[in-house]
Amino acid sequence: MDNNQKKPNKVNVPRFNLNWLFIVIALMLAVLYFTDSEGSISKTIPYSEFEKYVRSGYVSDVVGYDNNSVEFNVKPEHIKDVFKNDSNRVGKNPIIYTEAPSRDALSDFLKGQEEEGNFTGVASYETKKDYFTLVLWQVLPLVALVAIWIFLMRRMSGGGGGTSGVFSVGKSKAQLFEKDNAVKITFKDVAGLAEAKQEVEEIVEFLREPQKYTDLGGKIPKGALLVGPPGTGKTLLAKAVAGEANVPFFSLSGSDFVEMFVGVGASRVRDLFKQAKEKAPCIVFIDEIDAVGRARGKNPSMGGNDERENTLNQLLTEMDGFGSNSGVIILAATNRVDILDKALLRAGRFDRQIHVDLPDLNERKEVFGVHLRPIKIDDSVDVDLLARQTPGFSGADIANVCNEAALIAARHGKKFVGRQDFLDAVDRIIGGLEKKSKVTTLAERTTIALHEAGHASLSWLLEHANPLIKVTIVPRGRALGAAWYLPEERQITTKEQMLDEMCATLGGRAAEDLFLGKISTGAMNDLERVTKQAYGMIAYLGMSDKLPNLCYYNNDEYSFNKPYSDKTAELIDQEVLSMVNEQYDRARKILSEHTKEHNELAELLIEKEVIFAEDVERIFGKRPWASRSEEIMAYEKKTNEIEPETLPSFK
Ligand code: ADP
Ligand code: ZN
Repeated sequence: MDNNQKKPNKVNVPRFNLNWLFIVIALMLAVLYFTDSEGSISKTIPYSEFEKYVRSGYVSDVVGYDNNSVEFNVKPEHIKDVFKNDSNRVGKNPIIYTEAPSRDALSDFLKGQEEEGNFTGVASYETKKDYFTLVLWQVLPLVALVAIWIFLMRRMSGGGGGTSGVFSVGKSKAQLFEKDNAVKITFKDVAGLAEAKQEVEEIVEFLREPQKYTDLGGKIPKGALLVGPPGTGKTLLAKAVAGEANVPFFSLSGSDFVEMFVGVGASRVRDLFKQAKEKAPCIVFIDEIDAVGRARGKNPSMGGNDERENTLNQLLTEMDGFGSNSGVIILAATNRVDILDKALLRAGRFDRQIHVDLPDLNERKEVFGVHLRPIKIDDSVDVDLLARQTPGFSGADIANVCNEAALIAARHGKKFVGRQDFLDAVDRIIGGLEKKSKVTTLAERTTIALHEAGHASLSWLLEHANPLIKVTIVPRGRALGAAWYLPEERQITTKEQMLDEMCATLGGRAAEDLFLGKISTGAMNDLERVTKQAYGMIAYLGMSDKLPNLCYYNNDEYSFNKPYSDKTAELIDQEVLSMVNEQYDRARKILSEHTKEHNELAELLIEKEVIFAEDVERIFGKRPWASRSEEIMAYEKKTNEIEPETLPSFK
């Protein structure tokens, strides 16, 4: 099949959308305003006919105006004779208009008829009211109302562009970058992010040559989620994908869907997908998808944010609705996968997650490379030094440094931007950054490096610990450093294995204590894990010496009584304490026997920010348990087992 990009056009059934609702409301308002409250209709007749009616005795009251116009009523019993067929629609008291030759003629005629007994009603003479002001007073409030309404609509829909107005609330606000008119961004503009680039490369390939995949019966993911802190180049990467594939690019933010009006979000989602399908193949980029994609409420009775849930549901429906080979690929960005609704991450939706992290030393060099291109620099600028001076900076921060440096140089009237301008710019940006992101000082980095090196050393030296793949001290989200391990796949775990793992987890704190003489908050996460594990081993798995072979597991969650006595509780606490600290002492002992290697590893970490299994092997020598360590070498750098060192969140 080669026409997989073209979907057969669906039959165009007019669908209910918000615009119709607005039109109906407007019509109803208009009708309400213009219908007479009595519901009567009126009629204009020639004067001669009026004379006929008076002579026949049909007419009740007459009002004559100074401009010769006449209004009169007919006696109820004669309405039928005057209005003929329409008589049942005229209401109780219809008014009939006519034009008299003059007011005198009218009054003479009526006087004459009165004497003859044909006219028994009241004849009065008035000055004509000014109909124009009358109408004005009726219509003005309506006009004002509509004007205010339109104004509010404009404001709420962001006022973007000339076409936005009442009827575009339900339209998507996606910005479209077409093939030709946008500044083209390619992978050359994205520095670092090698793994992420490799992942999206496949998407580019598909957009370029869909047949290659579909011929083999393969399906291309409908969407990929770019996960990472702000400013790390997620939008840039998505744009580069579009640029490389040479397809249109829709860009919008998740918060664009969220609106005060019920139904607007869902309708915007629908509109976005409609537009995207027309432009297929194309890329839709949704930034900050957590604004709509947050997990739906567990408790339906709370009501919660129904509008957001409707929007999310619509998004899910649309993603299911288009075929996986329709050529629309959705890239979304978020900083927080954990709060996203699980339904979004299901297979066939955003089933791929691409991690986009803060750049490490080498990546920062590359980012500087990209952003220094348009700047006129002199020879004094040292990219290496700049990259070293900017730990914890995101790509956006680095772009900002380059720009700021150029501004500083311009302020001093220089022809070229020099080294000092860059250093000043870095200082300036650190000053601004300190509050908002994790810029670490050298002392902090030393502590983190010692800590992470402690984990790394122990996991290399202990037979049963999960061997390490990669350690980094680049801050990630709330974590200060991270280590990746290759977990062994096993169905049952022995006590030795658990103790070795515990020992390696305590290695961070032990290293801080041993080599720095100070302990820090950085180990909180480790300690929490270890404590829970020890408790589980003792109370549930019967692995302690004083309480062997007992399981106090209680799966009745509503029972508040512990299935053991207070004395046992005390014993459990003691056992947990002694088990954890036994392993802590063991960690300290092993580390003190390998001080040289550990410190070498820590120094390497401070210098390079990331180290891999190869580096650890170079320092410690081959692991005696060779088969496993070779497996690690073969293992690619990507893995999802992340064990972050989290800072305590109380601040
Ligand atoms: P995010 O979407 O992750 O918040 P952006 O993609 O909007 O971040 O990045 C903002 C700017 O930062 C980009 O326009 C670019 O100038 C710069 N930038 C970020 N990451 C990189 C990178 N890896 N390479 C080059 N420039 C980058
Ligand atoms: Zn740790």
